Amino acid sequence: MTTGVPLHALNVKELGAGRFQVVDPNGSGEPHLVDGSETPPTCDCPDHRFRRMRCKHVQAVEQFLVAAASTLASLAFARIEQGDLAQARKAIDALVALLPQIEGELKPDLERAVASLQVAYATAASS
Ligand SMILES: [Zn+2]
Repeated sequence: MTTGVPLHALNVKELGAGRFQVVDPNGSGEPHLVDGSETPPTCDCPDHRFRRMRCKHVQAVEQFLVAAASTLASLAFARIEQGDLAQARKAIDALVALLPQIEGELKPDLERAVASLQVAYATAASS
């Protein structure tokens, strides 16, 4: 894609309210704060603040959110199959809440997954 940094090597920790702490253990090792509640997301690293780059920290957070959303989608499908609709609802709601924070090429896939989940849930709930 852009920098060639292996983003999975970055540690992303969710702080709540759309904020994340990101550490690159192979870089400075210093924690940076990414605020995903801003559009586009902001970061306190020099690459972002002075050079207006979509820095590796922001990219790592996006990857983290996509992974979290995919996990929730799989979980929701599994719960629907098991007939555990209460847990399925929780996973779908969490996924829907996550969606606005996600940008990029994978977003349409996730939106389609949410749409199929809603249908699968409605079908399971009415049977
Ligand atoms: Zn950054």
